[in-house]
Amino acid sequence: QAKPNVVLHVADVHKNFGGLHALADIDLEVEEGKTHAIIGPNGAGKSTLLNVIIGRIPPTSGAVVFDGTVLTGKRPHEINQLGVSRVFQTPEIFADLSVLQNVMTPAFAKRDGAFRINFAKPLERETALRHEAEAMLEDVGLVDRRGVNAGSLSRGDKRRLELAMCLIQKPRLLLLDEPTAGMSRHDTNTTIELLKKIKSRGMTKVIIEHDMHVVFSLADKISVLAGGRIIAEGLPEEVRGDPRVQEAYLGG
Ligand code: ADP
Ligand code: MG
Repeated sequence: QAKPNVVLHVADVHKNFGGLHALADIDLEVEEGKTHAIIGPNGAGKSTLLNVIIGRIPPTSGAVVFDGTVLTGKRPHEINQLGVSRVFQTPEIFADLSVLQNVMTPAFAKRDGAFRINFAKPLERETALRHEAEAMLEDVGLVDRRGVNAGSLSRGDKRRLELAMCLIQKPRLLLLDEPTAGMSRHDTNTTIELLKKIKSRGMTKVIIEHDMHVVFSLADKISVLAGGRIIAEGLPEEVRGDPRVQEAYLGG
């Protein structure tokens, strides 16, 4: 049996906030090209784990290794440059820029460096980047809204925009924190369809999710987090029927 190619390894990570053990004994292996979901009730430590991976929060102990490179101790932008991109629980977009400019900005920053962006000069003059951004907006269903201010988008559309801003960076590892949080059922379903569509593109994905139903249609593997620990792990069908998982949700 061939050893699976583990691209992200979270090794014995602990995180304490004062006396609170937000994460304990976290060991996680994410395989290249797979969609790995981390589910768990509110307060389980999901966002903390994601923030440790992307370098926003230093772990109390343990390490995160991405494709042979130790991420622990690196700054978020350095980790981003290594091909790790994230979609936050609360979309982080430029409200006063157009939808198109929002998508062009990270692509431009990647090509020329973030400090070279001159917002006084229309980004749209960068024809090649503009075409790339428009194709991305087409993919996420926002191309008709390319000219409007991003701040005026609905919550669901802001999430789609942020996803496009991530995808245009062509990340090797994409992390999504509750991509359907606060969405209507309709927007949730559209987002699931969108994530399924981009699933085939080969990038590795880690999806943090509170809503079990969202991940069962997307995940190749699921790790269940409760009280800061991984209490179960396996294929979706294995995890779904696990009594410990049922209990964590009902009791949580
Ligand atoms: P989840 O994303 O699974 O809902 P979080 O990772 O946000 O959970 O939080 C896990 C636990 O850590 C919660 O008890 C939360 O209150 C606590 N926590 C999260 N961030 C901080 C922080 N910066 N300082 C203190 N406690 C925190
Ligand atoms: Mg969270």
